[in-house]
Amino acid sequence: MANMRLDKNPMPEQDPVLRAGNFDEVALGYTPEMAIDEAKRCLNCKNSLCRTGCPVKVRIPRFIAKVAEGDFDAAYEIITSTNSLPAVCGRVCPQEKQCESKCVRGIKGESVGIGRLERFVADYHMNKEVKDEVKVPESNGHRIAVVGSGPAGLTCAGDLRKMGYDVTVYEAFHKSGGVLVYGIPQFRLPKEIVAKEIDNLKAMGVNIINNAIVGKSETVDELFADGYEAVFIGSGAGLPMFMHIPGENLCGVYSANEFLTRINLMKAYKDGSDTPIMPLAGKKVAVVGGGNVAMDAARCSKRLGADVYIVYRRGMEELPARHEEVEHAEEEGIIFKTLTNPVKINGNENGYVASMTCVEMELGEPDASGRRRPIEKVGSDFDLPVDCVIMSLGTTPNPLIKNTTPGLEVNRKGGIVVNEAGLTSHQNVYAGGDAVTGAATVILAMGAGKLGAKSIDEALSK
Ligand code: FAD
Ligand code: SF4
Repeated sequence: MANMRLDKNPMPEQDPVLRAGNFDEVALGYTPEMAIDEAKRCLNCKNSLCRTGCPVKVRIPRFIAKVAEGDFDAAYEIITSTNSLPAVCGRVCPQEKQCESKCVRGIKGESVGIGRLERFVADYHMNKEVKDEVKVPESNGHRIAVVGSGPAGLTCAGDLRKMGYDVTVYEAFHKSGGVLVYGIPQFRLPKEIVAKEIDNLKAMGVNIINNAIVGKSETVDELFADGYEAVFIGSGAGLPMFMHIPGENLCGVYSANEFLTRINLMKAYKDGSDTPIMPLAGKKVAVVGGGNVAMDAARCSKRLGADVYIVYRRGMEELPARHEEVEHAEEEGIIFKTLTNPVKINGNENGYVASMTCVEMELGEPDASGRRRPIEKVGSDFDLPVDCVIMSLGTTPNPLIKNTTPGLEVNRKGGIVVNEAGLTSHQNVYAGGDAVTGAATVILAMGAGKLGAKSIDEALSK
């Protein structure tokens, strides 16, 4: 019989005071008992609405039923038949806006903890002492190139490999994983977990070449000349935006992308790092923006010993970051300066940040995005003393591939234009993920990678 308890089993977490001083994972994961108990809350609905909210169509009620029976291996099989990165998705997907937002148990009480269960199953499998043998699909002799090893590229590569294609992924960085390794911090997504998911793909026969920038080392057209029959572009949206206010070129101003890459990928917080960041212990940091990236930059700064402000021009209600991330940031002592907008960054005599001049805002009528428009309060400007400013205003796709691929159409925001099959304006070139949509989510990028793989297979099977 279903467990009719109204609330989800809470996620065990590191204590906020402790975790604000370390980079260890915040959420600790369910025990088998907690997972089985939570799985029993699922009604196994015939018309499972939760599935309609999942961009990679995980067979949610089926895997949850297996968890409820304690058959975690079968649950893993079911999840991985459509999702090649379950340990990642279980940690970072905004389930509250996707599968869980559709769950009928959410009508009266809390939805089933689908994400927490997915994470449990993936971790259970990863920690098993005796590993299942990886099935290496037989080659069908067709070669495909994938640009970028983020969730879009990896999903496309994994799905094509499962269908028998010989897939090579070209990745600009020395490590694979895209934003999963250089953006999302260790305390939300341990890098060992990303590495293990990538190892699974490699064991299946996906070939990854690192330090290979398509557009510099080889162009897309040269990949075709090398014998690839189709190319999937999953190069993400790594170009940061700035406010274009005075003082943005002072020492101590970072884009969130640069700041997080230095910390996550280059381990800048460790002694002797080749790409350090300024020492932040005892300093004041302002992170400008209110999305997940801003929360990550703020929480990293806190862990490096700084007092941290989130400076955001709308109110708490309008913060675009996941609710859970905002809550975690508040628990860790991040100060939210909402309805506040920077207008100038002021330097000291050495060219370093000394303060940021801000104005107070109020909310007017909704704008085109449906959110209330922030309006400046006249004469409300004040100086916020800070030593470091991190701009987290969003990112756009890097123009390198567009500039080196004749005939590749992009929109006015730099996103590659694709049709409903993920095909670009260039023959046999497909694209998906942030490179198409601009900064979005892991699961949407994975959905686009799946679509790309399916479309490539359909085109080459004709
Ligand atoms: P990316 O992950 O950006 O991967 C693109 C890859 O392509 C990179 O590795 C890049 O080096 C490589 N590349 C680029 N150009 C070239 C080239 N010319 N040649 C070869 N390789 C190239 N989403 C969530 O769902 N939940 C979250 O909690 C979340 N938190 C986030 C936190 C941060 C700090 C950031 C920055 C993003 C976050 N996102 C989150 C968004 C999510 O990570 C992205 O939407 C997702 O990673 C996009 O996947 P992608 O594969 O399209 O691109
Ligand atoms: Fe289970 Fe909720 Fe999906 Fe119904 S909607 S099958 S209760 S997870």
